[in-house]
Amino acid sequence: NTDLGELDPEIAAQLDNELRRQQQGLEMIASENHTAVAVMQAQGSVATNKYAEGYPGRRYYGGCEYVDVIEQLAIDRVKELFGAGFANVQPHSGAQANASVMHALIKPGDTILGLNLAHGGHLTHGMKINFSGKLYNVVAYGVSESDYRVDMAEVARLAEEHKPKLIVAGWSAYPRQLDFAEFRRIADSVGAYLMVDMAHFAGLVAAGLHPSPVPHAHVVTSTTHKTLGGPRGGIILSNDAEIAKKINSAVFPGQQGGPLEHVIAGKAVAFKIAASEEFTERQQRTLAGAQLLAERLSAPDVAAKGITVLTGGTDVHLVLVDLRHSELDGQQAEDLLHRIGITVNRNAVPFDPRPPMVSSGLRIGTPALATRGFGEDAFREVADVIAQALVAGPEADLAGLKARVDALALAHPLYPGVAKLGSA
Ligand code: PLP
Repeated sequence: NTDLGELDPEIAAQLDNELRRQQQGLEMIASENHTAVAVMQAQGSVATNKYAEGYPGRRYYGGCEYVDVIEQLAIDRVKELFGAGFANVQPHSGAQANASVMHALIKPGDTILGLNLAHGGHLTHGMKINFSGKLYNVVAYGVSESDYRVDMAEVARLAEEHKPKLIVAGWSAYPRQLDFAEFRRIADSVGAYLMVDMAHFAGLVAAGLHPSPVPHAHVVTSTTHKTLGGPRGGIILSNDAEIAKKINSAVFPGQQGGPLEHVIAGKAVAFKIAASEEFTERQQRTLAGAQLLAERLSAPDVAAKGITVLTGGTDVHLVLVDLRHSELDGQQAEDLLHRIGITVNRNAVPFDPRPPMVSSGLRIGTPALATRGFGEDAFREVADVIAQALVAGPEADLAGLKARVDALALAHPLYPGVAKLGSA
């Protein structure tokens, strides 16, 4: 029964440091968020002790009467949230969800068609050393060099030429919406399944601020921790009863053993929150913030430094900054913002001349700040700080900008009631 701070002060101290880092800095990694205290309570609960292989009402272990209720609530809530007839809430992560869908619907050696990693796709959409690239024959589509939007004519041409068994639509770094109906038309024209991976934009879909892929795709996968704001994890949705059966057996026993019922409890809480008006309002601020950021980073002082916004703007929760014509590379820009207390990640942009570890892009997202209560004025202020920092460059004195970041963090307290774990 020993308290963490007493039992393991080394770990407690680092968790306290991480809490402080999140509270004092501004988190703008597009795939991150600050989950609710209630979600963390569910995750830190006794459900972590429970083995529950199987599904609610059909378990391979005794004593599942309460976790059955928890998992069924998670299933029912996420089905309702996204208007899906079937949901599996057990994938431990987004990658596991995607692996399970491929395991369910196609065989090793089959062809999959997914978005090029270098153009904003995810590792699990066919990267060479990921399971998806090792097990399947990958053909990649990309964005067009003229407008940096997914080239649907190329998708259609590659589908016709390679006859994939599965087409993957979805992205990790792309600032626009995809045409799900056209993806489905192309999939149908070659007899392929369509999987939409909405990991990044699921929160916007839940709030009705982004078209839903659910009516178009055979299967939809997502993470639960990005715009959706829940615990780290994955989900799979479908409206096809046959596919649903295959998915359930592909997740367990195909890909996973015991489900993480404590995380599933956290997912259930997050789905409840995502159905609220407060959540919709938060997603509206997320979108508005990204648009303000895109506008500021398109201003003449930024353009004069060779820095632009990919596609000229955004329809989602992130902005991709194009540094190909800037003296700053992605690594330097990431480090520069880190110095003033803003966390972002460097990212390759399409047709990037710099190597991936350096890259020529920054991916900047607004979900975590919207969760923290940022409204238009605060987003305008942080956008201006970022723009001025990129214009000033790494040699400049950034103290004034750092002070503005500190003031924003102070004005938007995060987890004010969460106690430190270190007892000393
Ligand atoms: N799918 C997409 C589109 C993602 O962006 C990510 C994560 O970045 C994943 C899947 C994988 O999620 P996880 O990190 O939970 O495995």
